[in-house]
Amino acid sequence: MTQAPRFGLPRTLASLRNYVDGQFVETGKTFDNVSPLDGTLLAKVHEADAALVDRAVKAARKALNGPWGAMSVQERAQLLYKVADVIERRFDEFVAAEVADTGRPIAQARALDIYRGMANLRTFADLGKVANGEYFETRLANGQDLMNYTVRKPLGVVASICPWNLPLLSMTWKAGPALICGNTMVVKPSEETPSSATLLAEAFDEAGVPPGVFNLVHGFGPGSAGEAMTQHPGVDAVTFTGESRTGAAIMKAVADGVKDISFELGGKNGAIVFEDCDFDKAVDGIVKSSFTNSGQVCLCSERVFVQRSIFDRFVAALKARTEALSIGWPDEEGVFMGSLISHEHRDKVLSYYRLAVEEGATVVTGGGVPKFGDARDNGAFVQPTIWTGLPDTARCMREEVFGPVCHLSPFDTEEEVIARVNDTAYGLAGCVWTTNLSRAHRVSRQFHAGIVWINTWFSRDLRTPFGGSKLSGIGREGGRYSLDFYSETTNICVAI
Ligand code: NAD
Repeated sequence: MTQAPRFGLPRTLASLRNYVDGQFVETGKTFDNVSPLDGTLLAKVHEADAALVDRAVKAARKALNGPWGAMSVQERAQLLYKVADVIERRFDEFVAAEVADTGRPIAQARALDIYRGMANLRTFADLGKVANGEYFETRLANGQDLMNYTVRKPLGVVASICPWNLPLLSMTWKAGPALICGNTMVVKPSEETPSSATLLAEAFDEAGVPPGVFNLVHGFGPGSAGEAMTQHPGVDAVTFTGESRTGAAIMKAVADGVKDISFELGGKNGAIVFEDCDFDKAVDGIVKSSFTNSGQVCLCSERVFVQRSIFDRFVAALKARTEALSIGWPDEEGVFMGSLISHEHRDKVLSYYRLAVEEGATVVTGGGVPKFGDARDNGAFVQPTIWTGLPDTARCMREEVFGPVCHLSPFDTEEEVIARVNDTAYGLAGCVWTTNLSRAHRVSRQFHAGIVWINTWFSRDLRTPFGGSKLSGIGREGGRYSLDFYSETTNICVAI
């Protein structure tokens, strides 16, 4: 822990502070932010206690009843564009922060995470400006004519609790729509990824967003900032992305206050590869959908069903492609995979690697930890891993691993595979690989999932609904779905 990290934080982030009521706030208690690439200390993080969360909620209320509440949607949009412009100007700092915290390739942070951070703010600023209400005319039995129209108002103070896997992306995915709808926020990044969040607070500050509109508090869940946020009576709604188990705990915490919630939770996503697929594209697609971000995307395919006639060829091709993937430092030429988020998470992933063997899996490739012979051996790396041979009832087929791993199962018929892919407690995402147009549509609409991709994965139009069923979440965000969640709608009925 005494060595300097090879991928450190930008200079302004020597210590990571909270941002409350327009002020950067240190606290008496800190925790360590550690590099998952080599185990070195990145920075001390100032943990918010319940008193600081209370200050943040009160500041958010003041801004809601003050300058932010008084602004037009056009004025709010202008400020969100300005925040996005600051991110664009300080792009490299954001990339460095995200890479240091997560150990991901620089190319990914540039093309996905930070790019989407800007796009989320700009897209929702645009959508908010054209958000409309509804209008209905009615004649009653007595001949009385009525007109009804709806108006949108903010929910109030929104608590946003974010995960570590796509930190800036998920934070802006919630902040963009919440703020354009006129809400104010108290935001908590994951304790694993406090850095790009702190830069985001700097961007809000630099853009001149009024104090109290966007408050950032650092800390953990239970007994820390997260719990203080969900229990605070001044919070009107909670938007949460993270594990299903945490979602259940938050639901209990907000039950007495009957608060609005939006939950984007875990997945155990299925992909179906039919014998009539474009074979090379499907292999490439499964590599991406299983191993991108070291498998730490809620949308990753952990269960892959391949039609029996191409099963052996598919397993061999996927093994060859997986073994050719480059794992390493974030700046290496052609690197595909970095580390996992933390040593603790690596312990969890490795426990599933062991469990799969106990449950009778054949390990086609991977299953362990790569050896580098340098500082990366102190990091949280694992090998991308392919299993075959597990029954659908195995724990490794039912529980989310959230690492670079997939299981391949053979299937015979369309009817059979639809039943098997839906036999899960989760309902987030699915993929269908086929060149048969009718089958593609027929199968996709039978998936128990909020999002189904045909011959692609992870591609998103931000106007479309996003979310899951069953253990994967409550509600949809994206486009007008986000605007609906972050708005309180009032119907006004006029006798004419
Ligand atoms: P997590 O549930 O461990 O933590 C998420 C956040 O909740 C963190 O900020 C954490 O500090 C906080 N938290 C934990 N316990 C809390 C409590 N009792 N009260 C209040 N806050 C609490 O999740 P994670 O490990 O950061 O993220 C990975 C998980 O997120 C995976 O399950 C993944 O599938 C899911 N995820 C889902 C989506 C989606 O859109 N459906 C997107 C990204 C990640």
